Amino acid sequence: MRQATVYIDSQALQYNLNRVKQLAPTAKIVSMVKANAYGHGVKECLAALKDSDAFGVACVEEALEIRELGYTQPITLIEGVFSENEMIQVIGQKLECVVHQTPQVEWLIAHKDHYNALNLKVWVKLNSGMNRLGFKPTEIIEVIQRLKSHGFTCVLTMHFANADSDHPLNEQQKNQFLQVKQACEPILASCCNSAAIYKYPELHFDFVRPGIMLYGATPFADQNVHTLDLKPVMTFSARIIALNSIQQGESVGYGSTFTAAQPMKIAIVSIGYGDGYPRAYIKPNFVAIDEQLVPVIGRVSMDMIAIDVTGLDVELGTQIELWGKHRLLDDVATANGTIGYELLCRLSQRPKRQLLY
Ligand SMILES: *Cc1c(COP(=O)(O)O)cnc(C)c1O
Repeated sequence: MRQATVYIDSQALQYNLNRVKQLAPTAKIVSMVKANAYGHGVKECLAALKDSDAFGVACVEEALEIRELGYTQPITLIEGVFSENEMIQVIGQKLECVVHQTPQVEWLIAHKDHYNALNLKVWVKLNSGMNRLGFKPTEIIEVIQRLKSHGFTCVLTMHFANADSDHPLNEQQKNQFLQVKQACEPILASCCNSAAIYKYPELHFDFVRPGIMLYGATPFADQNVHTLDLKPVMTFSARIIALNSIQQGESVGYGSTFTAAQPMKIAIVSIGYGDGYPRAYIKPNFVAIDEQLVPVIGRVSMDMIAIDVTGLDVELGTQIELWGKHRLLDDVATANGTIGYELLCRLSQRPKRQLLY
C-alpha cells in the first residue's frame, strides 16, 4: 500500500486552542474550520475543538456538515448567504450569517419572523479599508440601527488586511472600527484573526476568530510556531519506495534539472503534487528524516520526489516528513513562494488522514 499519510495531532489542536484562551481570556472563541478545517479534515478536528464557543465556515454546506456531526454551537457563515432562499434555509437551520450587502439585509428583515430568526446574532461587516466585503463606515451605522430596530442583536465585525505586518492601514482600520463601534453602542464586536489575537490584545472584544494558529502554523512572515508557542497539528509523511546510486554527471527526474556533482545515493519517496505537495520552488527545499533535514532534488512529479540521502542510514520504507514537527510547514511554504494556509488547503484527498490522540 502507498503510505502517504496526513497525521492530525489532536493534543496539539487542544494545546493551540488553549493558547487562544490564554491570549484572549475574556473573549468567546469562534474556531475557523472553513475549507475542511484548513485541509486537516473537519471531522477529525472538531472533536479536539469541541470546547470552542462557536465555529466559522464559508458556506452552508460546510455548516451543515458540522451539524450532521452533532455539534450544536453557533456557526457563522463568514460570507453570508448568496440568495434569499438560502437565507430561509440558514434561519431554519439556526445558522448565523455575516451581512455585507444590502440585499442580504433585506432578506434577513423579510424573514425575521421565520423560526427564531431574532435569536440569531447578525454579524454586520465593516469595510474599513480592505475593500473586500463590508459596508462603508458612512453606511454601516444606518444598517445596524435598522437591524436593531427590527429586534436583531448585531455583532460589528471586520477583517484586517495586514494583521501580519506593520502596515499603516492597520491604524486606519482600527480607528474606523472603534469609531463605528462607539456610534453603535451597545453592540457586540469582533475583529481579530490569529495575527490580530497576538498583536492587538486591546481589540479582542466579544469574539475572537482564530484560524491558522489553531492548526499550529504562523500567520506572520517573521515569527515561527515555536516563538508563538504553538504546536504543529499536521504531520504530512510518506515513505521511501526506491534507493538508487547515481554517478557524477547523471541527472534526476523530469526536465533533468538536477545533475549530480559527485556520486550520490538518492531515495525516491512516494509523494507528489497529486497529493498536494507543491511543485514550484523559489528556494531549495527539504524534507526531514527524524530531526535531520534532507534536500529534495530535481522536479516534484505527480506521485514521487527524489531526495539526497548520501551517507544516511535509510532503507525501503523509511518514513519521511514532508512537513510537521521538524520540517516546518511555514518553511516549505516560504521555499515555495507561498504561505502555509495555501499548502494546507491544497492537500488532495489521496493521502490518508489519521487522527493521533
Ligand atoms: C479565515 C478567517 C479568519 C481566520 O484567519 P486566520 O488568519 O487563519 O486566523 C478570521 N476571520 C475571518 C472573517 C476569516 O475569513
